[in-house]
Amino acid sequence: MSKASTKLESQTPAEGVLKRNSWGDAITYQITCECQDADHDHNVWVEADDHRVTVTTYTTQKSQWWSLNRWQTIWILLTKGHVKYEANISMTEQQALNYAETLKKAVKDVKNFKQS
Ligand SMILES: [Zn+2]
Repeated sequence: MSKASTKLESQTPAEGVLKRNSWGDAITYQITCECQDADHDHNVWVEADDHRVTVTTYTTQKSQWWSLNRWQTIWILLTKGHVKYEANISMTEQQALNYAETLKKAVKDVKNFKQS
């Protein structure tokens, strides 16, 4: 029997958090905005190199960015990765929890992949 509770737990699969690509040492996610406008989405890149794990969050108005291959995506990050316009993302409490949990897990996963 589950107890009624107002405490939110992170979900799997996580609502509002879409895993887009995984190369083992790099995982990308799309965090969707509550208002459904894809221009507000966070594109999240979690990557491990030999020394550390980096998490890059950016927004882009280029749709379907996740269908690009890794090097195309890196090129976009390198050349257009800086903020050229403002975007706000609005998340529900549940989604924010999912987002945080996803980041925690992805950081661990890419690190483990790199070290194995
Ligand atoms: Zn929005």
